[in-house]
Amino acid sequence: MSCIFCRIAAGEIPSQKVYEDERVFAFRDINPVAPVHILIVPKTHIPGADAVSSENSSLVARIFEVIPKIAATEGLSRGYRVVTNVGEDGGQTVMHLHFHLIGGRKLDIMA
Ligand code: AMP
Repeated sequence: MSCIFCRIAAGEIPSQKVYEDERVFAFRDINPVAPVHILIVPKTHIPGADAVSSENSSLVARIFEVIPKIAATEGLSRGYRVVTNVGEDGGQTVMHLHFHLIGGRKLDIMA
């Protein structure tokens, strides 16, 4: 298994885990852009948001059920941002679907 996020989700590479269930894994971004910066990933490999289909979209739904729970645990009652980058122009650097949960400060308007 060569995908770094597959390996993190499998516990093969250490991470600062904040949440785990049978299908979803969440951990702190190694290069945070805000006081709270967490990555939420499916344990199953999906290359990116452009590879979401009727076959795997229930995983995305599960991730979006988990996000508010993590946000509450992190104390993000004032709000937060959820972002997924897609492809080279979108700034995706890890080709395993992940959602950035960013918060803990007033965020700038996105480019
Ligand atoms: P993206 O650029 O949208 O593909 O996001 C990839 C994110 O993964 C970046 O914000 C990186 O800082 C983060 N990242 C890469 N490797 C690790 C790692 N081993 N542990 C935690 N975060 C990582």
